[in-house]
Amino acid sequence: MARKAAGSKVRRIDPKKLKKKIVVGTRTDWFKIEDGIPYEIRVLPPLEGHVDAWGKPLDVPWVEHMQHGKNRGGMLANWDIEGSQYQRQITCLEWLGEPKCPVCELQRWCEENDIDPEFTLFPKPQYLMNLIYEGALWVWGAPPTAAGKIQEITESPHYGVKIFDPVLGRDLELKRTKVGGASGKGGFRSYSITPLPKSSRIELKDWEGQATKLARLITPFSYQDAQLIVIQNLGAFFPMDEVFGVSPEKARPKPKPKKKVSKKGRK
Ligand SMILES: [Zn+2]
Repeated sequence: MARKAAGSKVRRIDPKKLKKKIVVGTRTDWFKIEDGIPYEIRVLPPLEGHVDAWGKPLDVPWVEHMQHGKNRGGMLANWDIEGSQYQRQITCLEWLGEPKCPVCELQRWCEENDIDPEFTLFPKPQYLMNLIYEGALWVWGAPPTAAGKIQEITESPHYGVKIFDPVLGRDLELKRTKVGGASGKGGFRSYSITPLPKSSRIELKDWEGQATKLARLITPFSYQDAQLIVIQNLGAFFPMDEVFGVSPEKARPKPKPKKKVSKKGRK
């Protein structure tokens, strides 16, 4: 896969000289699903004071973002962060409106150089929501297919957005099924999400106060931090000097102007 780095013409990147300490965040109780098991969940309504990725007040129960996982062979992997026990996803900086995202840059570099990255570098949409399961609060990172199913319920005339109402709303039965693909973690999943027949009140005490502020989970890294994480995680697989450095073409010294040859010299 690797192409030869262009040597001295390319600016060397020394991860140690880049900023060292990256602030990662805190523990989150992630809701995890196994295939084929029905779960009774209660999705919390959008809460007062909760915002989306751009700081706008939420009017849906989830926060949408485009995440870069570090995927290889169908397995979703988060990024390791040196000096931290927590792993993180990287929210795509270009999706947020920043001029550059280091993961997208790496992906484009592979494309331009006709290299199969072997990692899935494209960002994927994810919908983070607060939910109650078995009397406790969890954060679920739902894929678009699952969030779409919940959206459909809120758009049906029978249920509408009152499905999230803390007193008159309903629990949902959620089930994930593996459909085709290789065995193990790979392959596609389909989701069935059905409101329970009876409405019910949220019983958990102080659920509003305890709910995770979802936008906090997708606080973007600075470009510099995200670049360092990419270098630390994938530096062994790609010539990062070339990916992020000055391209060899630009670094090449300009040819010297040709000396004028005098008419005399031509003879
Ligand atoms: Zn990106």
